Amino acid sequence: MKKIVVLGAGYAGLRTVKELIRLKADAQIVLVNKNDYHYESTQLHEIAAGTKEPDDITFKIMDVISPKVHFVKDEVLKIDRSKRQVQLKNSQAISYDYLVNCLGFESETFGIKGADEFGLPLIDVPSALAARKHLEKTLANYSKSQDENDLHIIVCGAGFTSIEYLGELVYRLPELIKKYDLPKDKIKIYCVEAGPKILPMLRPNLAKYAIDYLEKHGVEIHTNTPITEITANSVLSKDLSFTANTIIWTTGVKGSHVIADSGYQQHRNRVAVSTDLSLPDDTNEFVIGDVSAVPSPDGRFYPTTGQISIAEATLAAKNIVAKLQGKPTAPFVFNNLGTVCSLGPFNGVAELLLAGHWHLKGLKVAPLKRIVNDRSVLELAHFKTMLESK
Ligand code: NAD
Repeated sequence: MKKIVVLGAGYAGLRTVKELIRLKADAQIVLVNKNDYHYESTQLHEIAAGTKEPDDITFKIMDVISPKVHFVKDEVLKIDRSKRQVQLKNSQAISYDYLVNCLGFESETFGIKGADEFGLPLIDVPSALAARKHLEKTLANYSKSQDENDLHIIVCGAGFTSIEYLGELVYRLPELIKKYDLPKDKIKIYCVEAGPKILPMLRPNLAKYAIDYLEKHGVEIHTNTPITEITANSVLSKDLSFTANTIIWTTGVKGSHVIADSGYQQHRNRVAVSTDLSLPDDTNEFVIGDVSAVPSPDGRFYPTTGQISIAEATLAAKNIVAKLQGKPTAPFVFNNLGTVCSLGPFNGVAELLLAGHWHLKGLKVAPLKRIVNDRSVLELAHFKTMLESK
């Protein structure tokens, strides 16, 4: 019997094994993940701001996959493509006939001095929890230190992760001010962005709503300000510098380091795939999600989002089943459902491409975000998990 090995249990990996089971793939299916839980990476900003707990956004992998899937809890070190083997940290190497590589993302620092050492990334549950603990410890310290940098927070970058984190942070701030008896007028929150625009991928009126909302809640936004260095308590650019004892590093992501370690041809640990999501030099190997660069009809590559990862996984599973049956594979076609950017638990902006083109802002977006999140939990897990994730 052929063996399909799926690496990573993020959105892409879990959806792949679920689809392989649904399509009754005639093969042994092995899923490898370094943790025994899945986490909703689209909600890490809520853990970091302290509006949600890890239990709210995680679930046990064994609770949601079919018993027909063999789950291996281990860390992938390297893929030996010539031997068709996956090398693991703690257990024996696993060989494969088909590989679905969905090892996910890591924080991107672009080699900026101090970013690794002093920036707090939001890339997994431990890092989001560490960012929250650092923030609370620093705010709590103010009563002793009287150091105003304890009351300053810098968010580096203004992509979706930064904006959603800021939305959650300003929502929680009144509670933090009360908890640590902080002087409200001395709190400063900076958002420092290299590009000229905030949320350029959204319609201008939606981006403006998000900017106005954050500014009204005290966030100072600086565009055209590429960060060149960070230290323990400052963020530097060519012309400006900001000081703070909490520095959140959300300037973008790259694929897993395992990609470079395994010798793939890659750019920022993303591997260019064929339109059917397999590799041109090994059509039994599929690379999807944040480690993948999937060609889009406009001649560029698709961005890396949860929604796209799930769509890619659905096709990768279908194409492997086609190959097992000796049938041709199909190309990736993305049917975009739209984008939701939350601004705290009860506000946000959304551009939806469902039954027409909708753009929404304000309070009515909140239940939508919940529905989008619930949909992903529901699709990956089961109804019980969806109810428990409230
Ligand atoms: P991103 O790449 O979308 O945004 C990072 C931002 O940091 C960019 O605006 C970039 O210009 C800025 N930046 C980079 N280097 C900088 C520097 N030296 N100084 C100042 N600014 C700098 O990254 P992200 O927000 O982590 O998102 C990663 C992916 O996940 C994206 O594809 C995003 O669309 C997706 N995502 C989507 C949602 C959502 O749909 N609600 C939420 C989170 C993430």
